[in-house]
Amino acid sequence: MASRLAKEEGWLAEHMLILGITNPKGQKKYFAAAFPSTCAKTNLALMNPTQPRWKVESVGDDITWVKFDQQGNLQAINPENGFFDVAPGTSVRTNPNAIKTIQKNTIFTTVAETSDGGVYWEGIDKLLASGIKLISWKGKEWDPKDGEPCAHPNSRFCTPASQCPIIDPDWESPERVPIEGIIFGGSFLSPAKDVPLVYEALSWQHGVFVGAAMRSEATAAVEYKGKIITHDPFAMRPFFGYNFGQYLAHWLSMAQRPAAKLPKIFHVNWFQEDKAGRFLWAGFGENSRVLEWMFNRVDGEGGPQLTPIGYIPHEGALDLRGLGVVDVKELFHMSKEFWEEEVEEIQKYLEEQVNADLPPEIKNEVLALKQRISQM
Ligand code: GDP
Ligand code: MN
Repeated sequence: MASRLAKEEGWLAEHMLILGITNPKGQKKYFAAAFPSTCAKTNLALMNPTQPRWKVESVGDDITWVKFDQQGNLQAINPENGFFDVAPGTSVRTNPNAIKTIQKNTIFTTVAETSDGGVYWEGIDKLLASGIKLISWKGKEWDPKDGEPCAHPNSRFCTPASQCPIIDPDWESPERVPIEGIIFGGSFLSPAKDVPLVYEALSWQHGVFVGAAMRSEATAAVEYKGKIITHDPFAMRPFFGYNFGQYLAHWLSMAQRPAAKLPKIFHVNWFQEDKAGRFLWAGFGENSRVLEWMFNRVDGEGGPQLTPIGYIPHEGALDLRGLGVVDVKELFHMSKEFWEEEVEEIQKYLEEQVNADLPPEIKNEVLALKQRISQM
């Protein structure tokens, strides 16, 4: 409903987190990021950066409403009062700020219960005290031998954002916060590990195309079972309130606004795996290294290197100090075969799904990408 209203009134209602990031000099920028469900929005919004003296604060982890103000700044709010998130996998190790947030005033659904009145789920990373039993989400005493998870894979917590230890001081500001970068991303494992760790779109129009072309693994939160790579443009597939072609035209029209300071658009992939199925990138707090590069790019720095799909960090422009062995070559590898197939697939998808409503700018982006890839 909000996306439809936004279209009529000239703003954007999006499936995005908002975070503020402050560099060691005390300069702060806000980024909004759209990832499909279970592709790391909450983790990014609530991260503890590993980059020394950098600070991340959270405005929201799921929904963003943005509009350009008179000065041309893209001003954002999070319309939600709390976080509503998947519990399994949430632990002190993976998301310490979420764990701190859910210590009180929190509603849990379809999680497992401990016999002493606590909550429990897969990946909570907490040993049960001796004598404590688990009641599964189905209300029965849980026996690991049954081979079923104790908590439903889409079990959730619903918790007040005000309890989050890193909530941004301006998270409820009526003035909103200015967005200087938009991040798209998804979860691409082995079949798509030619999607690099990070790249920057060449222009606003190209960035809108990148959002339209988003693909990801389907998850427990949508209707598919198992691992299927699916299209999820702008992470909005389950939430579009109107025609997708008109939605693209609406995004493109932002560039026509007088004095609009268009944010840079990036794409990330935290989830590449090596041949043994291990993550190539440490992720979580280490993603602050990628945020640092984006921060520098917004300031016109950061050593961009042009590739057929967008700008990637020049060798040395991404701070990898202290990370141990990182296969940078693999993290930014892109094969011609993969991208040839990918662009065909995207073109087919857009032609079939959007058809005559596909804006000419997006058609041109498809053809331009094809052209650039053919010269790889
Ligand atoms: P959301 O549904 O988009 O909010 O996604 P979450 O933030 O809840 O994360 C979904 C899953 O991705 C969880 O199992 C996280 O532990 C995992 N995850 C989050 N960030 C990273 C990362 O940087 N790297 C890896 N490998 N996994 C991550
Ligand atoms: Mn979330």
